[in-house]
Amino acid sequence: MKADEEGFLYPSVEIGLCVDCGLCEKVCPFNAELESHQPQSVYAAINPNETERLQSSSGGIFSMLMRKIIEAGGVVYGAAFDDNWNVHHIAIESIADMSKLQGSKYVQSSICDTYIHVKQNLQTGRQVLFSGTACQVAGLKKFLRKEYDNLLTVDVICHGTPSPMVWQDYIKTIWQPKGADAGENTVLLSLNENPSIEGISFRDKKLGWRKYGFVVRYSDDQRKSEKFGLSSVEAKSEIWESLHDNVYMQGFLNNLYLRPSCHHCRVKSGRCESDITLGDFWGVWDVCPDLNDDKGISLVLVNSSKGEDVLASINALLYDINYKDALKCNPCLERSVQETKYRKMFWSSYSSDTVTDNIRNVVKAMRPSFTRKLYGLIMFFVSKIYHSFVPKRT
Ligand SMILES: Cc1cc2nc3c(=O)[nH]c(=O)nc-3n(C[C@H](O)[C@H](O)[C@H](O)COP(=O)(O)OP(=O)(O)OC[C@H]3O[C@@H](n4cnc5c(N)ncnc54)[C@H](O)[C@@H]3O)c2cc1C
Repeated sequence: MKADEEGFLYPSVEIGLCVDCGLCEKVCPFNAELESHQPQSVYAAINPNETERLQSSSGGIFSMLMRKIIEAGGVVYGAAFDDNWNVHHIAIESIADMSKLQGSKYVQSSICDTYIHVKQNLQTGRQVLFSGTACQVAGLKKFLRKEYDNLLTVDVICHGTPSPMVWQDYIKTIWQPKGADAGENTVLLSLNENPSIEGISFRDKKLGWRKYGFVVRYSDDQRKSEKFGLSSVEAKSEIWESLHDNVYMQGFLNNLYLRPSCHHCRVKSGRCESDITLGDFWGVWDVCPDLNDDKGISLVLVNSSKGEDVLASINALLYDINYKDALKCNPCLERSVQETKYRKMFWSSYSSDTVTDNIRNVVKAMRPSFTRKLYGLIMFFVSKIYHSFVPKRT
């Protein structure tokens, strides 16, 4: 796999070694016509274990599924950070390691050689839970080329996956990996050495699930403040920014650096054939307001009878939902986010050293100007006045 100039990995064939069997093209989900499927059932769902729920991005249902498989002696695959805050798929086999897979990481996760290990585990008869984006699940299914009773697959509803290179360039603005040149540190300006990052969460729920924040947690701030002579404010042990203030999240949610294929996703609407699809139940406040305690509610789509059986066995709090209501508040279930001219603008001025300025500038350019806002407001009032005199045709 080789990274392109945007930092996304693509397969590259070593012509000298290729035996021209065509298998790689045969198993590529993007070369196949995949059928869409409506889910068998749809639920609003909550993990009754509040600690697990708060550590998760949505309602914490994935943690319940992990626990079930691990307690049965199985192995769970999902996206985790490594020591340098890259995101890739790993396997876990113990309850103690569950926290590594909890929480959404808004970066494209590298699959590494997990498909091969999944197959080996399946062949020994072990229970396997594989989780990831729909394209990763579709890729695994094509790679396996047959169904396994001991495999449970879970995909997440997906807005799109951001470039790992942008993420790494962004993370360098708040942290320098050991041995790297010290660059501009935009968060702790007086730090020239490594602050030791203990954890990163893209979906911190300190101010609630709806107003989630991006948080970087530093360890040992007492030692750090002494060593670097920082004031207590500078040596604070975490940096918390709302999704509106965090520059990386703004670039992600404005679709500046998603993988190009995410704008034409071919595996939405159940096409990846996972057993269960998990997402956030945005819109719960309209559909079932009594459920919303702002600690996270999952949207669960069950796509197979295997998924139905597993879900029934984990003791999650489940509430029947109409698919149309789920779709209304979560269009990413069926539709890809659109590519705009601002994506091109972002990449044409990309430089690793100025990543945060670049995101800020492009996001600013996306905002309507004062004149456009004023024009919109005037047109709104003109149409209100017009309709109050001219009755609407029915
Ligand atoms: C890139 C991305 C975009 C998303 N977009 C939406 C959206 O538009 N609408 C929506 O409702 N939900 C979206 N989600 C899903 C949502 O954020 C939660 O992951 C999901 O609801 C599961 O939540 P949970 O509380 O059950 O478990 P959690 O513990 O929060 O989720 C963990 C699960 O997420 C997987 N995961 C985490 N990061 C990645 C990654 N980088 N690549 C692949 N898998 C990953 C883990 O493998 C595990 O399966 C997105 C998730 C990701 C990773």
